[in-house]
Amino acid sequence: MAKPVMLIVDDVEMNRAMLTAYFDDEYTILEAGDGDEGLRIIEEQPVDIVLLDLVMPSLNGYEVLSRIKSSERYAALPVIVMTAYTDGQSEVLAMEMGADDYIQKPYNPTVVQCRVRNVMGRVDRDAKARQVARMKEFIEHDSLTAIYNKETFCKKVAQHLQKHADTPYCMLYWNIHSFKVINDLFGTQTGDRILCEAANYFLQLSKETQGICGRVEADRFSVCLPQDKLDMEHITKQLDIHMQQLGINSRLTFLAGIYPITNITLPVDQMLDRAHMALNSLGANFAKRYASYDDQMREKLLEEQVIVREMDTAVKEDQFCAFFQPIYNLHTNECVSAEALVRWLHPEKGLISPGKFLPVFEKNGFITRLDRIVWEKACQCLAWQKEHCAQVTPISINVSRLDFYAGNLLEFLLGLIKKYDLETWMLKLEITESAYVDNPRQLQEISQQFHAHGFPILMDDFGSGYSSLNMLRSLPVDILKVDMVFVRDLDKDETTRILMRDIVQMARDMGMHTVIEGVETQSQLDFLRSIGCQDIQGYYFSKPLPHQDFKDLLNHA
Ligand code: C2E
Ligand code: CA
Ligand code: CA
Repeated sequence: MAKPVMLIVDDVEMNRAMLTAYFDDEYTILEAGDGDEGLRIIEEQPVDIVLLDLVMPSLNGYEVLSRIKSSERYAALPVIVMTAYTDGQSEVLAMEMGADDYIQKPYNPTVVQCRVRNVMGRVDRDAKARQVARMKEFIEHDSLTAIYNKETFCKKVAQHLQKHADTPYCMLYWNIHSFKVINDLFGTQTGDRILCEAANYFLQLSKETQGICGRVEADRFSVCLPQDKLDMEHITKQLDIHMQQLGINSRLTFLAGIYPITNITLPVDQMLDRAHMALNSLGANFAKRYASYDDQMREKLLEEQVIVREMDTAVKEDQFCAFFQPIYNLHTNECVSAEALVRWLHPEKGLISPGKFLPVFEKNGFITRLDRIVWEKACQCLAWQKEHCAQVTPISINVSRLDFYAGNLLEFLLGLIKKYDLETWMLKLEITESAYVDNPRQLQEISQQFHAHGFPILMDDFGSGYSSLNMLRSLPVDILKVDMVFVRDLDKDETTRILMRDIVQMARDMGMHTVIEGVETQSQLDFLRSIGCQDIQGYYFSKPLPHQDFKDLLNHA
């Protein structure tokens, strides 16, 4: 190993020679006869320790010391000053200026060697400690944002929660909506700036609230803070203000899931999972920027995972089937139509209603595949009718919002009509408002095409949303299906009765047929008949029936 380098700065050659004699076994010695030369040597080559005489002509030792200690680059370089004074003042002054130790002349070889060794030992330890600190910093922190990385965050949170076991904490899981798009659009440099700025905010927030924050994944951050400091309205508002300072020309939306920590022994990454689940429960429209985790959510999510896992097998094994709910004419009491409603006939769980699985399939897009299966079953029922009944009773099918995006919708339905040798009037299309809200123009165009081909268009759940009337005005609707909520309140509420009368009247004025859904009682039926309603769908007449039962009903009609 190379010897460390010692620089001896003294104007008296004799002194330099003496010190050299003490140290030249252990050190490579460099000599300077004055302050200027000493400083030049320090700048030109690595030096590990300086022995500096305080009294020298021109640049004296104090000035050299002051330059070394005030420079960022050399401040850590150990300097031992040498004095001939015995008043103690000069030593004190030199030590105050940052000298690491002092030696008095005349030199005592043992004392001199001890002092140098002590100083060097201290320097070694300091350097080690700094190195360890740097390593720790590197391992524990995220290299981009300099806040904790996921591992450290989890570790620190676990310790923190133990230490503050009496204080209820919560876990926040943040995600920047469409960060990938922003990254692509503005470049990774801007993306990095966004992440750093967000990290700054979360760090500030955690300092203010005695919390802890970390970057847990690419654009995902976590903050653990006391529940009584959780004012989400305030936090999201401040975050938005903070991010606006970046002046990025795109909306940066931060969404958060919250897990109120009820069990501090739960592994922290599971706390994060729960906050993450809460985040995932947020809808796509940002009406809400944050949501809290509850146990129901967990149950629900587990159920959803099972549904997704089983859906392909269910198709393969033909577990999805169509039930048919008859629709009756109020004046003739005859079944005039039916609605095809999907059911999942699960080999272990039995019959599952659509409320359980459709929301999942709407989320993952599987609904478009499922709808086509149900439509085909409806067509098979119509084909059977054509063969076995005196007349065909038309069937309504439900068309979801996503079906309009899946493409070749018209071609597919026309293909079914052709395959089963049917006519388009036999298949009624039930469309809900959600499809209209998404893209009114497109829906208008497509439904006009359907209409031109002779498919009756039915507006489902009329009155349940905000755009029902707009939709009615711009689409070629043949049949208005009034939402169940109205029927439910008929007996209770005079206003509802008036409203129902107005709706039926309006439909008649517009040349539309009405179907009232969810009729369960005789009194509802009597009222609806009295205001001139035509068709009724509801448990009063019949629940949705399995295909065979529906066929039996038609056969006996
Ligand atoms: P929807 O289109 O409004 O269908 C009517 C729902 O009301 C059906 O529920 C039906 O069983 C129920 N219902 C009928 N009469 C009564 C009654 O008198 N009282 C009560 N309380 N309920 C009644 P279901 O079959 O559970 O379907 C729920 C929803 O799932 C449907 O509402 C529809 O939006 C959707 N859906 C069902 N099948 C399909 C399908 O094949 N494709 C698509 N995209 N959606 C479907
Ligand atoms: Ca429907
Ligand atoms: Ca409906």
